[in-house]
Amino acid sequence: MDAVEKKVRAFVRVKPTADFAQDMIKFGRDNKSIDIYIKKDAKKGVVNNRQTDWSFRLDGVLHNTSQELAYETVAKKLVSEALVGYNGTIMCYGQTGAGKTYTMTGTTAEYKHRGIIPRAIQQVFKAIAHSVDSFITVRISYLEIYNETLSDLLSTTTSSGTSDTQMAVVDCPQGVYVKGLSIHSVSHEEDALNLLFEARETHITIDLMGETNRVIAEHTLNKNSSRSHCIFTIYIESRFRVFSDVRCINSKINLIDLAGSERLSKTGSEGQVLKEATYINKSLSFLEQIIIALADPRRDHIPFRQSKLTHVLKDSLGGKCNTVLVANICGEALHVEETLSSLRFATRMKWITTEPVINVTCDPEETVKALEKEIILLKQELAMHDNLVNRSLVTYDPLTDVQIAEIKSQIHKYLQGAIDEIDIMNIRQVQEVFKQFKLIVRQQEHEVEARLRSKYALIDKNDFATIAAAQKAGVIDVDRYLMGEKDGQDFGTRTTPISPKPGGKKKKSRKSSEQSKKEGTRSCLSGRELDAPLPSKSQVTISTRDLDVKERARNEDTANIDAQPSKPASVEDLQRPSSPPSKPVAFEQFKEECGSEINRIFKENKSILLARKKRSSTVARRINIIKHEMEDIKKALEAQRQERCQQGEYVDEKGHLIIDEKEFLLIMKLKDLKEEHRSGYAELQDLKAEIQYCQHLVDQCRNKLVSEFEIWYSESFLIPTYVQKALKPGGNIRPGMIPINRVMCLEEDEQDRFERMQETVLPAGPDSVSFYKAKMKIDQKHTYTRTMSSLEQMRKKPGHITATGKSKGPSCLHVT
Ligand code: ADP
Ligand code: MG
Repeated sequence: MDAVEKKVRAFVRVKPTADFAQDMIKFGRDNKSIDIYIKKDAKKGVVNNRQTDWSFRLDGVLHNTSQELAYETVAKKLVSEALVGYNGTIMCYGQTGAGKTYTMTGTTAEYKHRGIIPRAIQQVFKAIAHSVDSFITVRISYLEIYNETLSDLLSTTTSSGTSDTQMAVVDCPQGVYVKGLSIHSVSHEEDALNLLFEARETHITIDLMGETNRVIAEHTLNKNSSRSHCIFTIYIESRFRVFSDVRCINSKINLIDLAGSERLSKTGSEGQVLKEATYINKSLSFLEQIIIALADPRRDHIPFRQSKLTHVLKDSLGGKCNTVLVANICGEALHVEETLSSLRFATRMKWITTEPVINVTCDPEETVKALEKEIILLKQELAMHDNLVNRSLVTYDPLTDVQIAEIKSQIHKYLQGAIDEIDIMNIRQVQEVFKQFKLIVRQQEHEVEARLRSKYALIDKNDFATIAAAQKAGVIDVDRYLMGEKDGQDFGTRTTPISPKPGGKKKKSRKSSEQSKKEGTRSCLSGRELDAPLPSKSQVTISTRDLDVKERARNEDTANIDAQPSKPASVEDLQRPSSPPSKPVAFEQFKEECGSEINRIFKENKSILLARKKRSSTVARRINIIKHEMEDIKKALEAQRQERCQQGEYVDEKGHLIIDEKEFLLIMKLKDLKEEHRSGYAELQDLKAEIQYCQHLVDQCRNKLVSEFEIWYSESFLIPTYVQKALKPGGNIRPGMIPINRVMCLEEDEQDRFERMQETVLPAGPDSVSFYKAKMKIDQKHTYTRTMSSLEQMRKKPGHITATGKSKGPSCLHVT
C-alpha cells in the first residue's frame, strides 16, 4: 500500500472560563492561529523578556466548542480511517485541569458531554452496523503509566487495577505491544462503554485512595486530576471478502490522556509529589525529545525506549499512523506560561511528518478458497458470454481425451495439407496444439532414426574393425554394399547400399529408385521372412527402393489430399499412428491379426508339403534299396542258372525245367521285390504330383499373404482414411489390387474407375500401377496353370490317387 505523506495534526482547545485573558490570547480569523501577548513586566524573570508575543499556527482552535464539534474536528476522520486500516493516535496534552480528560473521556453524567473515547466507540460500532462486505471485531484495552509503572485499567485479575509487575512493553515486527495487558473483545458499544466507565470509576477511586493510603499530597491544581498517562486503545480487525480480495485489516486507535504538563516550579510540589512530577515531566520531556527527533529528517535513531510512555507510543507516533494532538489550554492569564508551553509543544508536533499505511494481511488459505470461487464465477461469466455470442461449444475446463484426439487429428491433417489452418478456439486448445506439434517433432526424429536403422546396417565409418569383419562375413562387399539374399524364391532379392551417411550414395540410390519405377514395386518381404521370425537389424529387410517408393507415395498422398476439402477427423484417423511402422514389424502384426487365416493356411499347406517331400524321399530311398536287392538277386539267379547248365538240367514229365529250392526262393524274392518296386514307384509318382500341387498351393498362399499384407499395410498406414472409405465395399471404388478374384469379377466400368483411382491414390503412385496389375495377373495365371496341370497328372493315375492323393488331397487347403 502506497503511503501518503502527512503531517501530524495539532489543535488547541481552550477550556472555557469567565476570566479569559482577552489581551493576552487572541485567535486568528480562520480559527487556525493563536497569538499570545505577554506584557514585559507581567512577571519578571519567568518569560523571556526579549519576546513578548508569539503566534502559533495550528490545524484548528477549539474555543467555546462543544464536545460534538470537538470530536468531529479532531477525531472523526481519524476513526473512519482506522476503520479502513490506518492506525490512529489522539493525544491530549496540557497542564492539569486544562480539560484533557474532559476532551478525551468527557463526563459520564451527561451524554452530550461525553468525550472522544465514547464517541469513537460509537462511530466504530455504527460503522460495523453499516458494513456489508466485512466482518469486523473490536477489542479494547486501557493502560495507565504512572511513575514509569504500567497498569492495566481493565484488568479482571487485579481488582484494584494497580500495577502488574509482569507487564512490559515489547517490540515485535508487527509493532509494539504491552505484554500482560488485557485486551477485551466487545461486541456492542455498550460493552465497551461499561468497561471504560468502570475503569474510570476505579481509576478515580484509586486516585483518591492513593491520596489517602499512599498519602499523596493534595494537588494544588486539581486533586482529581490524574497524574498518570492513560492510553485507551480500540483494536479493529476487519475481514473483507470481495470476490478474491480476502484481506484482513488490523488497526488500532490510541486515545491518550497525558498527565499534566505543568512545570515543577509552578506546582511548588515537594517529596512524593515532586517525585511524581519529576516522572511525569521526564516522560513528557522525553516525548518532546522524540517529537523533535521525529521532526528532524536527518535523525535515524529515535530513542523511543527512554521512557515507558514513548516506548508504548513507538508505533503510534513514528510515522506510520495518523496522529492528532490536542493541546488543552486554560484561558486565564495566570496559566499563560503553561499555555505558551503547550502551544509550543503542539507546534512542534506539527513538524512531524507521517506516512500512514494500511495494516493489511492476507490469509493464504482463505485467498486460495476465494480465488477458486472466483474462477468458478468467471467461468460461469464466460460461459454466459459465449452463449450470447453463439460460442456455446467453448469450454474452459481442461481438455478431454476426445478433444485432445480431435486436436491431434487436426494437426495431422494440417501437416498433410488437408486443411489450411487450425481454428483457434481457446487458450487451452492453443497450448495443446503446441504440445502435439512438439510430440510430432520428437516422433519424427525417432522415426527417421528407426528408418535409417532398418534401411542401413549402420556402422561407424571410423570403426574399421567392424567394417573389416562385415566384409569378411560377406555382409558388405568391398564397395560397402550389402550383399543381397541369394534365395531364388525371394521376392525382395536386391542389393542395398550401405553408407554411413544416408544420402551419401545419392546418385546410386536415385538410380535404384528409378529402376524400381520401371520394374514396379516388389514386395519387400522375402519368402524366407515369411517363415522366419523378425530379421535382425543387420539383415537388410527394406530396400532403398521401398523407402523411396514409400516416400514418393506419401508425398503424392499429400499432393492428392491437398485438393480435398477438409473433413472432420474419423476414428480411424485418430487411431492411426503418425508414422508407419517398418514393414517387418508390420508384417508380424499382420500375420497375427488380419492375415492370421491366410498365414494359418499357408503354414498348414507348407507342413503338408514338407510331409509329402519327406515321404517322397523315404519312398525313393526304399525303391533304390529294392533296386539294389533286385540286382543282387538277379546276379544270384544268373549264377544258379550257370551252375545248373554246367551240372545238367532236370526236366519233369511235362517238360518243365526243374529248379532247386534255393533258386526257387530267389525267384520268389525277386518277384516280391519287383512288386514292391512297382508299388513304391507308383507311390513316388503320386507323391511327386502331390508335392507339385502342394508346392503351388504354398506359392499361392505366399503370394496372397504378401499381397494382402501390402494392401493392409497401405490401408492401415499409407492411404488416407477418406480414400479407404471410397475403396470399401459400398464405397465409390472397389479395392482391386488384391484379392485378385475381386479384380477379375469387376464390372468393366468399375474396373475403369478402379484403374483411374489406382493412378491417383496407390501408395506407390501411378508408376507402380502397371507393375501391380501385371504381377497380379501373372501370379494368378501361373498358379492356375500349375494347379491345373498337377491335377491333370493326378487324374491320369486314378489308382494311385486312391492310394495316396485321395486320402491326402482334402487335407490340402485352398486359399481362394
Ligand atoms: P485535566 O484532565 O486536563 O486535568 P479535566 O478534564 O479534568 O482536566 O478538567 C478539569 C475540569 O474542567 C473538569 O471538571 C471538567 O469538567 C472541566 N472542563 C474542562 N474542559 C472543559 C470544557 N471544554 N467545557 C466544560 N468544562 C470543561
Ligand atoms: Mg485529567
